[in-house]
Amino acid sequence: MKTNNLGYPRIGSNRELKKANELYWAGKITAEELLATGSAIRTQNWKLQAENGIDLIPSNDFSLYDQVLDLTLSLGAIPERYQEFSRTNNSLDLYFAMARGAQKNGQDVVAMEMTKWFDTNYHYIVPEFTKNQKFELFSTKVIAEFIEAKNLGIRTKPVLIGPVSYLLLGKEKGDDFHRIDLIYNLLPVYFEILSKLEAEGASYIQLDEPFLALNLTDKERDAITYVYNEINKNFPNLKVVLANYFDCFGENLETALALPVDTFHLDLVRCPLQLDDILESGKLADNVNLSLGVVDGRNIWKNDFKKSLVLIEKAITALGENRILIASSCSLIHSPCDLDLETNDETLTPEIKQWLAFAKQKIQEISLLKQFATNETDRTNSLKFAENTLANENRKSSALIHNEGVKNRVASIEKGDDQRQNTFAVRRKSQAEALKLPLFPTTTIGSFPQTAEVRSWRAKFKKGELTQQQYDDLLQKETEETIRFQEESGIDVLVHGEFERNDMVEYFGEQLDGFTFTKNGWVQSYGSRCVKPPVIYGDVSRPTPMTVKWAEFAQSLTPKWVKGMLTGPVTILQWSFVRNDQPRSETCTQIALAIRDEVVDLEKAGIKIIQIDEPAIREGLPLRKEDWANYLDWAIKAFRISASGVADDTQIHTHMCYSEFNDIIQNIADMDADVITIECSRSQMELLDAFADFKYPNEIGPGVYDIHSPRVPSNEEMVHLLKKASSVIPADQLWVNPDCGLKTRHWDETKKALIEMVNAAKKMRVAV
Ligand code: GLN
Ligand code: ZN
Repeated sequence: MKTNNLGYPRIGSNRELKKANELYWAGKITAEELLATGSAIRTQNWKLQAENGIDLIPSNDFSLYDQVLDLTLSLGAIPERYQEFSRTNNSLDLYFAMARGAQKNGQDVVAMEMTKWFDTNYHYIVPEFTKNQKFELFSTKVIAEFIEAKNLGIRTKPVLIGPVSYLLLGKEKGDDFHRIDLIYNLLPVYFEILSKLEAEGASYIQLDEPFLALNLTDKERDAITYVYNEINKNFPNLKVVLANYFDCFGENLETALALPVDTFHLDLVRCPLQLDDILESGKLADNVNLSLGVVDGRNIWKNDFKKSLVLIEKAITALGENRILIASSCSLIHSPCDLDLETNDETLTPEIKQWLAFAKQKIQEISLLKQFATNETDRTNSLKFAENTLANENRKSSALIHNEGVKNRVASIEKGDDQRQNTFAVRRKSQAEALKLPLFPTTTIGSFPQTAEVRSWRAKFKKGELTQQQYDDLLQKETEETIRFQEESGIDVLVHGEFERNDMVEYFGEQLDGFTFTKNGWVQSYGSRCVKPPVIYGDVSRPTPMTVKWAEFAQSLTPKWVKGMLTGPVTILQWSFVRNDQPRSETCTQIALAIRDEVVDLEKAGIKIIQIDEPAIREGLPLRKEDWANYLDWAIKAFRISASGVADDTQIHTHMCYSEFNDIIQNIADMDADVITIECSRSQMELLDAFADFKYPNEIGPGVYDIHSPRVPSNEEMVHLLKKASSVIPADQLWVNPDCGLKTRHWDETKKALIEMVNAAKKMRVAV
């Protein structure tokens, strides 16, 4: 029996890589210094895994920015616009130009596109392919890192994204070919890499084909069969670990089981039942091993040894010890690094901490599971085993987790609790009477610039250098100035600016029961950007109002409407580490009830317009289409529960960032928000077509300018976009607003842009 890890976090336990990257980009450290930081992190990771008894230790799981970009560079799939950079002798220039865009010699090169890695919050750089795309071995990173580890005395298992998944991750430039046809050009370069690795002494290679967890076409499945047969023919001695994760093989199982590989890796956290399916199918060839992904790479909970050993023992009974590997469910890059660094007992109490495991602890779990499974360590006498059992039992019954009041409230939700009192057509009339807004009403998405000054107040307040009173005074002054600016510029529906919020999920999590926070639980989101998701450990409830004070204060300053601002239940769920002892839908419903209470309290405080942001609805979609309906059902219902406690004339808004709406437009309509604001400017209003085709009945604010850029748009540009919008959506359904929150912008450009935006709305009112 062996132990197998699919990948280890590369940001460093104290985010060393992030810091080094940012210093390098700012010109403050040299390329050598940056590379040395990378090498130090790799060395540390390899040694840690070796010392903790991991047999198949990954290499090439490290990346300065993104592993898909690394592969793109290795395979020489460099888009034309970076030619200038590929001629310089600094390959880092080229690499970061592709990752982040660059300006050089008067030339302005945009970055490659970035998108989410399956259903995670990790973003990868999307490969771009042309019709006759040529590939060549351009960078030998994977070989260099194998040699680097070998020189430390560690013979690693290099990790590569498999050829089929690599092509599927990318997109075609030009519509007269399918990228899967490039497989014949691509495979020879993989072969070149594999021969070099073999020559250096590699015996294992991990090829990740996570697309096996998705719905594949016959052509894509055939490509998988072709590729792995070719690899086997050309490299009969190389042990290929074929990794699938984030779901089971589904209808791809037969194709997969027929492949001539050494080992199949299964994600038994997402899909424990597939073990039975595979063992009972009788289709697993006699010489093939199973890597059992029982240690969750996607979450922070301590493994339940008893439960894992049941699965492991089942596999041993069927196949024998020698054909089993114990593994992480997927790469550990989706987990924070090290629980030992959590030393702040106030936020992460010892009781909660004993339930958790981060990457380092997960490595230890993998190795302990092997010891128990092989009886190398007798579990009945093992302190570690007893500790694990105790922690898991105590989590099941802990008073911290279980709140009968919350459970009963969820159980007694009735039909109609997710419904507004009347239909939109009726509400619309009440709202028009109550709110008296002009045609093309103007508003913003919520946040105004979070300047360095605002952030410094929060830092000082947290360190105790400012009293609550001093901190609140400063925030009030900032809020008041923001209200005055909005009044002066003629915006119709104002916001308070969200200056008191660090982050749109953390701010709510800090005030809700059932949530806690880590000090150092960082996970890479993209490049140097890391996030520290809240931990939902228990039943969620709202002890006191969370936003009413600020909304009330802002409303007291002005006769205009101030919009209350909340984060929705699905987004809070999606951007947190979620408990694994009950379905996600249950946790989401609990959050929905807490938000509902806040909505009702805002209404009581005289707030007539309330926005519930749900930018993460789409990213929660399951990987397989057949699972969409169930998710959308509970997710949309949770939003509706949060929004339905108010009277007809209270107007509920929602906001969603860049997403495609075509295939979920019915569900968006089912949310029944009175107004939805969406990203639209970068797509030149194309995203509106889904709403137009559907004859979406409620009101819509298609973003008229891109807040991701400091550029100030002219009112003419926005009039142009609004005319386009009103050619597909009736004018009396349209709102005028930016794309998203203004948090990351500077005041100067923000003021100019919003004044232009108000002018655009005025021109539109005259025009109709
Ligand atoms: N209200 C939030 C803001 O303006 C919305 C952010 C988001 O959609 N991501 O910052
Ligand atoms: Zn947004």
